[in-house]
Amino acid sequence: MKYLLVMGLVLVVFWVWRNKREAERDAAAPRAPAPPQRETAVTEMVACDVCGVHLPKSEALIGGRGIYCSDAHRRQAGG
Ligand SMILES: [Zn+2]
Repeated sequence: MKYLLVMGLVLVVFWVWRNKREAERDAAAPRAPAPPQRETAVTEMVACDVCGVHLPKSEALIGGRGIYCSDAHRRQAGG
């Protein structure tokens, strides 16, 4: 009977320890995916209509017919 009590106590301690570890892991998990989401929100990427290269929207040239990576491609497209 005494051994049953000790075994029960060990099981309870193990269960509490496991739950605590899972809670700590869950608390740490939402922080990991946050930085990439913030980066994409800051720099919006666009593709050049001529060569298809991706560049930040702030560096892109916006012509009459589309978005271009350089003045040469803007002229090439006639925009
Ligand atoms: Zn281009």
